[in-house]
Amino acid sequence: MNGKIGLEEHFAIPETLQDSAGFVPGDYWTELSARLLDIHERRLHEMDANGMEMMILSLNAPAVQAIPDRAKAIEIARRANDFLAEQVARRPDRFQAFAALPMQDPDAATRELERCMVELGFRGALVNGFSQVDTPENVVYYDAPQYADFWAASERLDAPFYLHPRNPIPSWSQIYQGHPWLMGPTWAFAQETAVHALRLMASGLFDRHPGLKIILGHMGEGLPYNIWRVDNRNAWVQMPKGYPAKKPLGEYFNQNFYLTTSGNFRTQTLIDAMLEVGSDRILFSTDWPFENVDHASSWFNSTSISEADRQKIGRTNAVNLFKLKL
Ligand code: MN
Repeated sequence: MNGKIGLEEHFAIPETLQDSAGFVPGDYWTELSARLLDIHERRLHEMDANGMEMMILSLNAPAVQAIPDRAKAIEIARRANDFLAEQVARRPDRFQAFAALPMQDPDAATRELERCMVELGFRGALVNGFSQVDTPENVVYYDAPQYADFWAASERLDAPFYLHPRNPIPSWSQIYQGHPWLMGPTWAFAQETAVHALRLMASGLFDRHPGLKIILGHMGEGLPYNIWRVDNRNAWVQMPKGYPAKKPLGEYFNQNFYLTTSGNFRTQTLIDAMLEVGSDRILFSTDWPFENVDHASSWFNSTSISEADRQKIGRTNAVNLFKLKL
């Protein structure tokens, strides 16, 4: 299929490049770092070769979220966003942008989101999971009350929020002790991000802001497969739900969430996601440069779904969600 649009597609600036170094063996680092720093050469070639018309670009991970110093986090986010705006201005027909946000400082994050959406023409934000605030050990999730104004602004600006994975900090990773192979995209990313998404759902955030749009990558970080059980375990027992949200969490999952195919090129998994949330809420993505554009595209182009669904997931859902002028 031609004209595909992807929205989990990363780049790095020199200040954040090293954050990606641990995710591939050392002898792949030359290749990965070159992929991350490139925008207009190799990346465009990959897109052209694989029928991909546009990438909505975002900074690598964990980047801003792992900078406990608030002033530094604000500075790096701003620097990355200004750099990205310049790149998009060179090829707005091929690239659009997600904002990096200094969530360490909720007011600064709100101001940066507004600046990116209103002044720079960005399409939303991509945030790499929890933020470390003031000290490396102080982990903050975004269901916390200090984010009330941020979420109100996110809804008002109609800015989709891509909740992207990061690894848990070492002191919160006892379950993976002795098994470092479980970290990152193998398992820890999905676990971390799915729990964060459930926290947002359970907090009542979407009762207060029904217009919020949250995007999850990797076909929903396991949630399509498990969301029914979240709401229906021990159904014969009358149990208090134990959280402030008004509705079963699956209703928020269906009304406020969008999923992408990034890094999860598996037809069986796509079909499950389609059966849970429907093809209007699933969007093609590759997870370049950590995954290959050709791997994502050759799978998606031939996967056994209807051509109508292929057009929606591959392109038109993104056009509608991000109001793209193509
Ligand atoms: Mn990614």
